[in-house]
Amino acid sequence: MKSNLLSAQTEYRQEVNRQELLQSVKRIVVKIGTSSLITKDFKLNKERLDNLVDDLASVKQSGKEVILVTSGAIGTGVGRIGLKRRPQDIPSQQAAAAVGQSLLMSAYEERFRKYNLPIAQMLLTQDDLRNRKRYTNASNTLHALLRYGVIPVVNENDTVAVEEIKVGDNDTLSALVTNLADADLLFILSDTDGFYTDDPRKNSGAKLIKVVLTINAELKKAAGKKGSSVGTGGMETKIRAAQIVTGSGVNMVLANASVEKIVQRILDGEELGTFFLAEGERKSGWKRWIAYSLPIKGVLQVDAGAYIALTKRGKSLLASGLIGVTGNFKFGDAVRCVDDNNKEFARGLVNYSADETNKIKGKKTSEIETILGHKHYDEVIHRDNLVILRENG
Ligand code: GLU
Repeated sequence: MKSNLLSAQTEYRQEVNRQELLQSVKRIVVKIGTSSLITKDFKLNKERLDNLVDDLASVKQSGKEVILVTSGAIGTGVGRIGLKRRPQDIPSQQAAAAVGQSLLMSAYEERFRKYNLPIAQMLLTQDDLRNRKRYTNASNTLHALLRYGVIPVVNENDTVAVEEIKVGDNDTLSALVTNLADADLLFILSDTDGFYTDDPRKNSGAKLIKVVLTINAELKKAAGKKGSSVGTGGMETKIRAAQIVTGSGVNMVLANASVEKIVQRILDGEELGTFFLAEGERKSGWKRWIAYSLPIKGVLQVDAGAYIALTKRGKSLLASGLIGVTGNFKFGDAVRCVDDNNKEFARGLVNYSADETNKIKGKKTSEIETILGHKHYDEVIHRDNLVILRENG
């Protein structure tokens, strides 16, 4: 099955009962991209906004909790300032975002108000999601808003986000928000009906895949890289978002923003869009944070015995199983664990710095104290801080 998974995924779609998958969905995140919200001349697409709000309002009124992740701040800001195209330099983009964000919020406020639904603006950066305290604060705020029946409207805090601290694209942001909110389903709404076997604009024989069971290398290749002229994403970032969400044990749907009531219709069980199926059990919030919100500071290579102990027996990583250490990490940083073929299979928080880990690599736990002069932990990564990733990650 591995050799031809893409075609297998098309064939096996009938086995998945969407109704069953959707039954327990209570809280959803919906992401809409710039290319769906902003016209070619950098104005807000009013009709699209009307439809989106109408759709989300009916989902909300049916008793579900809704979080919206919206792009379009830079795009609409560009138009409002009177620029002809999206500027290339960062401060100009940030200025456009500052102008556009308030336009975006007032457009949503005006529309949701008609349904008597309060909304709230939440602007986040990668930095907020990496820092455990800020992550917890943002999560608490989000949950409080939901308790009040408010629809949180999230975007990246573009005015402060420069390269090192930004998420960079709202597909990934929406996946991280799904984790932050502990939501049951992520919708990514875009200008395509879903995920195709090839680019449908170039190949008329390209088929829509209704259900993606596994995100493998073949599928990633089919995703290509191209985005649209107004947005930042493209299919690649959607697949990255799907990896985060499904790897966390949650389903994701990719569907067309231009189809009326698309979210409600999919929730009602209509066979629209592409479903990306959760891989295994839902992971705890702590483990999702470790796996997907933190920057990776190093790589630990383990031998075959340690690989089995970690993946099959739920054990912690000991120094004796280590065969390679790279990177420059300190206590508490996140690292990748790779097998003897260099394939990543886990991520975790280390108890020793790169320097210390190098010194104790391959040694018995009982030798650590003699080598380092101290032994604060028996494990290099404790199993509570270790996340095993999907096999095809
Ligand atoms: N935060 C950006 C904006 O509001 C969009 C980023 C994205 O679309 O991925 O313009």
